Amino acid sequence: MSKTLFQKIADKEIPSALVYEDDQVVAFKDIDPQAPTHVLIVPRKPIPRIAEARPEDHKVLGHLLLKAAEIARRLGLEKSGYRLVLNNGPHAGEAVPHLHIHLLGGRQMKWPPG
Ligand code: 5GP
Repeated sequence: MSKTLFQKIADKEIPSALVYEDDQVVAFKDIDPQAPTHVLIVPRKPIPRIAEARPEDHKVLGHLLLKAAEIARRLGLEKSGYRLVLNNGPHAGEAVPHLHIHLLGGRQMKWPPG
């Protein structure tokens, strides 16, 4: 099966501004940032979207969330706050079919989201 865009980024076949990596996840700056801080946290495993995650993925999903919080802390966003977003499917505007968490911070967010 061919690699997803984010697998190619994780494998450094496509360059990115890397923020964090370990054996399970990579995090890099979004190419089209929607906030002063906009980082994508991505499992190396190409789960297409959260709706297709399986019970056996629980460890990587937990790791993904914990790393998102750790990266936010490291980027100095803990006090001001930040938003984590997962887009699932067409109505959510999902563009890349490889699960990722958007970490957005550095400005006031609105609710409800657009
Ligand atoms: P989605 O809409 O699927 O939740 O988000 C996909 C995100 O990936 C978008 O925010 C988009 O800007 C980002 N993106 C798409 N292609 C690239 C790329 O080649 N490099 C990086 N760093 N981000 C990308």
